[in-house]
Amino acid sequence: MDCLFCKIIKGEIPSTKVYEDEYCYAFRDIAPQAKCHVVLVSKKHVKNIREAAELSAEERSAMVLAVGKIAALENLDDGFRIVSNCGKHGCQSVEHWHIHILGGEQLSEKMA
Ligand code: AMP
Repeated sequence: MDCLFCKIIKGEIPSTKVYEDEYCYAFRDIAPQAKCHVVLVSKKHVKNIREAAELSAEERSAMVLAVGKIAALENLDDGFRIVSNCGKHGCQSVEHWHIHILGGEQLSEKMA
């Protein structure tokens, strides 16, 4: 399968790793939209959050728990935002489920 994030997980495309465990991998976004912009991906390929039902309970909960771990690693003590773009209206550009973690500065109140 020709998936950019699968290649990043396998190390075939370089990335700046922020966090990794058995089920997820997180790296710095190549085009950051905040001072801190981390992309958290599920190691198992599923297209987006609507397909998260195809993951095991362990794989799903690892993604949620990783958010808190990354926030601690990145010292996002004043808060942060998570975004998971889905499909055309959500402007999802990479079809491999991922969660953006944005912070490190005051974010805009507007979300869309
Ligand atoms: P989305 O538009 O929600 O699908 O998010 C995909 C994200 O992947 C975008 O924010 C891109 O900037 C980011 N991205 C694309 N290619 C790379 C890469 N090689 N390394 C790091 N981030 C990337």
